[in-house]
Amino acid sequence: METEDLIEKIRSGEIKLYEIEKFINNDVNKASEIRRKFLEQELNIKLDHLGKYSIDLNQTFNKNIENAIGCVQIPVGIAGPLKINGEYAKGLFYVPLATTEGALVASVNRGCSVITSSGGAFTKILYDKMTRAPLFKVKNISEAIRLTQWVKENFDEIKRKFEEGSRHLKLINIQPWIIGRNVWLRFEAQTGDAMGMNMVTIATERACNYITENFKEAKLVALSGNLCTDKKPGAINWLLGRGKTVLAEVTVPREIVKEKLKTTPEEAQEVAFKKNILASAFAHSYGLNAHIANIIAAVFLATGQDAAQITESSMGISYAEVNEEGNLYVSVYLPSLEIGTVGGGTGLPTQKESLRILGCEGGGKESGENAKKFAEIIAATVLAGEISLLAALAAGHLAKAHIRLGKGK
Ligand code: NAP
Repeated sequence: METEDLIEKIRSGEIKLYEIEKFINNDVNKASEIRRKFLEQELNIKLDHLGKYSIDLNQTFNKNIENAIGCVQIPVGIAGPLKINGEYAKGLFYVPLATTEGALVASVNRGCSVITSSGGAFTKILYDKMTRAPLFKVKNISEAIRLTQWVKENFDEIKRKFEEGSRHLKLINIQPWIIGRNVWLRFEAQTGDAMGMNMVTIATERACNYITENFKEAKLVALSGNLCTDKKPGAINWLLGRGKTVLAEVTVPREIVKEKLKTTPEEAQEVAFKKNILASAFAHSYGLNAHIANIIAAVFLATGQDAAQITESSMGISYAEVNEEGNLYVSVYLPSLEIGTVGGGTGLPTQKESLRILGCEGGGKESGENAKKFAEIIAATVLAGEISLLAALAAGHLAKAHIRLGKGK
């Protein structure tokens, strides 16, 4: 069917906008073009840029997008070299950051330079577990307790069912929660190099079927019962962790603080304590930090992570203190970093190239190795961003940098 005929049928309601692929051999690039034309005519506007992209949208069919109309372009900058002495990330790294916020890349770059000249950041993954918490209903509290005991006694068989779907899945724990006659089972699993949300959801459904088939008094109310907790800020991930729980630290010698950051360890410590800790505690914030979300968002967009998970991935604590030698010790804690190097948007060509720059493209030699390396790189980059902003505030340079780099002046 010709483009104009299709547009006419869309206008008349004979064909739905999302159905175009069906009439043109599932060609998503062509379908996107037709949708853009339809929107241009319908809204009387010009769309000159959404259709300019180098990736093949057919690759996204039934995978990444529906009703496609093109691609949004976000500038990508590079920060580095960043020296990391981690368990999985070792050496010098250049980190791609996708953002439209002027001054962000420059600021992170300055932090990278400080960390690298100080000998590098140490990073450590404390926990690695993606979670899904289905909600069950039983008759009363006694039955709820009986269900949680049954789950504990039958953990091995539930684990067997759970892990059937992929060799990369490993169920490590099921944490039960009870309110009245409602039971949440928070499944915690390792998911190799994938962020894991699809894998764990599908595996949890298999486990739930096994539970309701064998514990007949339990009825599944919802496969996702919000104690997971996915794409919402919350204390459960803050305290128990989700995805990777990561630490990073560096000690910056006093001379480097003075020379590169134009402040002193004491001034940086004061800002870190009174801004990051005191004020954030007063505000009851899950962000006891300067701007972790800035770095998380820019890395997530550059590398094809699930953007909605910036919500909990950017929760964190960054703190700084003058150590016994008079140098500046800085550390960040990311309890809930949900990332992957396989699956979701990580397979798209531009996002893949960003992961390639980091040496984290695709699956690791050992399952999970690449994702852990990536998590450590993110933590070290967050550390760089935190150091730079804290110092800019301590030195009174924040507004000046934004006037110079954020307003095109
Ligand atoms: P995925 O896109 O489902 O891909 C994971 C699959 O990749 C695995 O099942 C595995 O299949 C294969 N794989 C190959 N090499 C691997 C390796 N080294 N490590 C791990 N897996 C490997 O990925 P996902 O992270 O589970 O899901 C991400 C997607 O879920 C994103 O698009 C995100 O937006 C979406 N999401 C879904 C939900 C949900 O509730 N379903 C919620 C939030 C986000 P084999 O074992 O067969 O090789």
